[in-house]
Amino acid sequence: MARINDDYEKLQAGYLFPEIGRRVAAFQSEHPDASVIRLGIGDVTLPLAPAVVQALHDATDEMGTAEGFRGYGPERGAEDFLLEGILEHDFTSRGVTLAKDEIFVSDGSKQDSGNIQEIFGRDCHIAVTDPVYPVYVDTNVMAGRTGAAGDSGRFAGILYLPATEENGFVPPPPDAPADIAYLCSPNNPTGSVASHAALAEWVAWAREHDAVIIYDAAYDAFIQDPSLPHSIYEVDGAKECAIEMRSFSKRAGFTGVRCAYTVVPHGVTGSDAAGQRVPLNGLWLRRHCTKFNGVPYVVQRAAGAVFSPEGRKQTQEQVAHYMSNAAYIRTGLTDAGFVCFGGEHAPYVWVRTPQGLSSWDCFDRILGEANVVTTPGSGFGASGEGYFRISAFNSRENVEAAVSRIQRAFAG
Ligand SMILES: *Cc1c(COP(=O)(O)O)cnc(C)c1O
Repeated sequence: MARINDDYEKLQAGYLFPEIGRRVAAFQSEHPDASVIRLGIGDVTLPLAPAVVQALHDATDEMGTAEGFRGYGPERGAEDFLLEGILEHDFTSRGVTLAKDEIFVSDGSKQDSGNIQEIFGRDCHIAVTDPVYPVYVDTNVMAGRTGAAGDSGRFAGILYLPATEENGFVPPPPDAPADIAYLCSPNNPTGSVASHAALAEWVAWAREHDAVIIYDAAYDAFIQDPSLPHSIYEVDGAKECAIEMRSFSKRAGFTGVRCAYTVVPHGVTGSDAAGQRVPLNGLWLRRHCTKFNGVPYVVQRAAGAVFSPEGRKQTQEQVAHYMSNAAYIRTGLTDAGFVCFGGEHAPYVWVRTPQGLSSWDCFDRILGEANVVTTPGSGFGASGEGYFRISAFNSRENVEAAVSRIQRAFAG
């Protein structure tokens, strides 16, 4: 008998984006003439930067020659040129020193943030901010670290830290201990960003409680204020308690190309059954090499091109396009009477629902009256109830049309 993993049955039936898709499809079949604008799911829309396209072409040609052909990559999976680009542009330039063998290149931060929990014991106690990127929670449910979901969708055994207007959607560390805390800054879904002081508080908490922080910096390229931290390693002591994940998906439009990396500094340790300290770097290396054969060479070349002078300039222009959309959305919705948050250092604007509407009722109203798809905040966690998320990933034309339709639908 192939007994299933019963923990999968604890997962919520309607995953957020399928439910949104179902409601949009139902609306479109009833209103075939309506032109629906999608500002829901967080996916980039601009084409790949020319420098990236050129690198893909060049690497493909190289692979088609006898001298340039490559099979499996280096043992750890990452090419030297890419590790050098990462170290120089993402860390050294910010005063952070890391070694090449602390960087693990992968095919995505979704995978990494879901897989990382495998190197921790099943009885580890998890803390997440709420609302939250659902991957952190669901992968721990699958691994058996939680009880069942309650009425609000919160799983027993997880410590949820509400991100609220009062704390600027950047929850401080809890009074209670936890073993692993997931942080994401700039944040999906709230668009908030953690200051250096906020991260320093988290690092102090982790060191006090012997906890590990899993820091997701997928949106760091969207930070506009140079005084804000791009990496948790800009905080002293973080190299002893934090794992950081970064992706090329949003910064360079790689959602379909697939490349990311995880940083596991040698100083980050956990405790084994005998109470010995064990470096997590070795565990992640073992996991990585056992279950993964590396990112395609052509993709690593494309990621490397993001760090070339043209690649940096072109991808910064893409980010600037999305951030100008975010500013337009924030201003336009504020003018229409909405209370808006985020959107200043992240491609997401987090909006309080008007007239006390629930997140899903507001979603239905904006879809029905403005024909715009948003994301209901409650889909990201109980504390997201009463909010919705608008993504800036779209053309300027669509963003302007969507904002003016929402303004009209909610006028007066
Ligand atoms: C988009 C996103 C990622 C990136 O995931 P990839 O698998 O690298 O595409 C990671 N974390 C968050 C919170 C995201 O929104």
